[in-house]
Amino acid sequence: MREKLESVFAGVVQRNPGEKEFHQAVREVLDSVAPALARHPEYADAKIIERICEPERQIIFRVPWADDRGEVHVNRGFRVEFNSALGPYKGGLRFHPSVYLGIIKFLGFEQIFKNALTGMPIGGGKGGSDFDPKGRSDREVMRFCQSFMTELYRHIGEHTDVPAGDIGVGGREIGFLFGQYKRITNRYESGVLTGKGLAYGGAQVRTEATGYGAVFFAEEMLRTAGESMDGKRVVVSGSGNVAIYAIEKVHQLGGTVVACSDSSGYVLDEKGIDLEVLKDLKEVRRGRISEYVQARPHATFVAGGNVWEVPCEVAIPSATQNEISAESAAALVAGGCAVVVEGANMPTTPEGVRVFEQAGVRFAPGKAANAGGVATSALEMQQNASRDSWTFEHSEQKLRTIMQDIHARCYATAEEYGMPGNYVAGANIDGFRRVADAMLAQGLI
Ligand code: NAP
Repeated sequence: MREKLESVFAGVVQRNPGEKEFHQAVREVLDSVAPALARHPEYADAKIIERICEPERQIIFRVPWADDRGEVHVNRGFRVEFNSALGPYKGGLRFHPSVYLGIIKFLGFEQIFKNALTGMPIGGGKGGSDFDPKGRSDREVMRFCQSFMTELYRHIGEHTDVPAGDIGVGGREIGFLFGQYKRITNRYESGVLTGKGLAYGGAQVRTEATGYGAVFFAEEMLRTAGESMDGKRVVVSGSGNVAIYAIEKVHQLGGTVVACSDSSGYVLDEKGIDLEVLKDLKEVRRGRISEYVQARPHATFVAGGNVWEVPCEVAIPSATQNEISAESAAALVAGGCAVVVEGANMPTTPEGVRVFEQAGVRFAPGKAANAGGVATSALEMQQNASRDSWTFEHSEQKLRTIMQDIHARCYATAEEYGMPGNYVAGANIDGFRRVADAMLAQGLI
């Protein structure tokens, strides 16, 4: 079986040259699912692995727009519709200068299994652009979003493909994208995008969901070992959507987040990150993390510093892919870290994961731990379809139950396959089996 998987992987590398993040994501899944394939020869007979690694559709398009001075810019837009075995393609849009096809494909591939793990009827997809919203005015961002949607609209729809936010795409961008979709199609199709504002069809708790969900997952991991978040010293990387609401939930559960970051460095606040200050800085003023210390003079800003050098018991990486190298993982272990929960997608390198494994650190991969965002997006779709809207408390309870279920399934699957406590294997095998069974049932498509 291993030999067969090696040859599948070699084929993926050959057919997708230069897409190293995609290769990395495929490698991780293939490394985990061999035992499931051995038990289910029907998967291999139907070439499920070969089919799952090939997106159903990949769209690349030109996005021209003019800045406030009238200068014309040309960006590239992407939507990879990876797998629709379980439902309409579902996954966010990322606007960041580092975006290229390999990033979108890694994210889309991960999304297939993450969405399967939620148990909800959603397939996997991802999109975005190499546009950099940083430093752009609201009007420039609006013009970009309108141009992006002028092509994207023909590929999406509430029963076809339902995008949401990711890095660089938050409530402001989703509003502009939804407005343009409605204008072009002349349809008020609420379920075509999730992460909408509460004023026009958005769902309670969607903004908070990924961060809260990651902390609910962490809480379950701790509970399984007879511990709790109460009194824990925590470090979170990033200071965007996922990071802010992970910090909020840790504090609500009695832990203390002492450090967070952005791409310029990190802040250390031994009294605990002040969320009011952080939200105003990042959500309202769209400023840099260095400005945090102006409001909290006892805190320190470390320009260009590595946030993983701050000692902690629990780490929640919530910025970007491959932000925890083997060295950073070793620094975390040396600082007493016993639990790592990925709020971001694939933030730990394979070498970093090995360091955690060897040190006995309990490790939750993003496709399980950050699934609360997409699960709550599916709840938004449900509410849109029934023209209903639920309370914050009801929605948060649903999110908590979903995260507890995902945790329980990952844990049980790892045990079933003789790898107790291995959340990576549990998540990959359980997600894979769900998609594989649906693909088998639907024939050779
Ligand atoms: P966001 O609001 O745009 O925030 C991203 C944060 O990460 C910012 O603080 C940003 O700092 C930092 N960051 C981004 N790229 C970086 C880089 N190359 N180096 C260092 N720092 C970097 O995005 P988000 O929605 O929180 O997403 C964060 C992660 O969670 C991503 O991996 C995303 O795929 C994943 N995720 C998000 C959701 C969701 O619902 N939003 C759901 C599941 C998973 P700067 O501002 O300095 O760039």
